[in-house]
Amino acid sequence: MNENAEQIQKDVSQWEAKDGDTSGACGHSHDGAADAMRHHHRGDAICIDNVSFSYPGKGGRAAVESVTMHIPVGTRLGIVGPNGSGKSTLLRLILGLLKPTAGRISVFEFEPREACRRELIGYVPQRAEAEFDFPLSVEQVVLQGRVGRVGMFRFLSKRDHEFARQSMAEVGIESIAGEAIGDLSGGQQQRVFIARALAVEPKILILDEPTAAIDEAGQDVFARLMERIQDDYAMTTLVVSHDLRAIVAGCDQVACLNRRLHFHDAPSGLTREVLSEVFEHNLAGIE
Ligand code: ADP
Ligand code: MG
Repeated sequence: MNENAEQIQKDVSQWEAKDGDTSGACGHSHDGAADAMRHHHRGDAICIDNVSFSYPGKGGRAAVESVTMHIPVGTRLGIVGPNGSGKSTLLRLILGLLKPTAGRISVFEFEPREACRRELIGYVPQRAEAEFDFPLSVEQVVLQGRVGRVGMFRFLSKRDHEFARQSMAEVGIESIAGEAIGDLSGGQQQRVFIARALAVEPKILILDEPTAAIDEAGQDVFARLMERIQDDYAMTTLVVSHDLRAIVAGCDQVACLNRRLHFHDAPSGLTREVLSEVFEHNLAGIE
């Protein structure tokens, strides 16, 4: 663990100490919280143990099956796998949007939903078009990242606005702060959603297929952006991508998922055998 990682672990321990007064008041079960704490390995940001999940009405076929994965604080993890291999489902389980059918997940010693409530995770979903129905400006979208922090009916403070501005500067969208989100290119929109996730001040940043909607030049910009975010914030990052080359270049661990976890280690350990197993011999487009 580097120094930053240790600091993050310390921060989290402080919240954990505060947890005693708040968890009862919020109606969370003490048992569940205590369980999550016992289960969690110190030094890990995320612990996934033997997790399976089936969507209802899929004939019992699991979307994610018996996945065990421990992600140390500060890791840059790339998740690859073919379409429908359960990548987005695994992210939704980590975020507490879905509950495992079997097994368990803890995020910094909390149950996933509690970790999200505490804003430990910033999330950029695979596609975020729903928001474009509203005529929101770039700045308003980024400020949404602060709303959870202050509560719906409280005013955003100067610090909230400053943090939103800093997040916009980080991804290079300050100059378009007043533009309508719906008028932007796919790559620009992507950066707006990354800025919103950063504005949360999360300990973990999760991005689902962030480069799917952007061209090659945009992908280079994105790769440099992720590097800078990593240097500036020392976050744990999870990035799902179909672009294996980008993952290998920009991550220190790779997870290969095809319902089951076929590989989880440094990219240097990836072999043709692993890849053809995961992608079921369909290597077209990834070499
Ligand atoms: P990936 O992100 O790797 O493309 P997903 O996690 O989206 O894969 O999907 C994994 C499997 O779960 C697929 O078979 C998909 O059809 C199914 N699935 C995904 N979302 C839903 C849902 N909301 N309801 C039912 N089945 C789903
Ligand atoms: Mg997906």
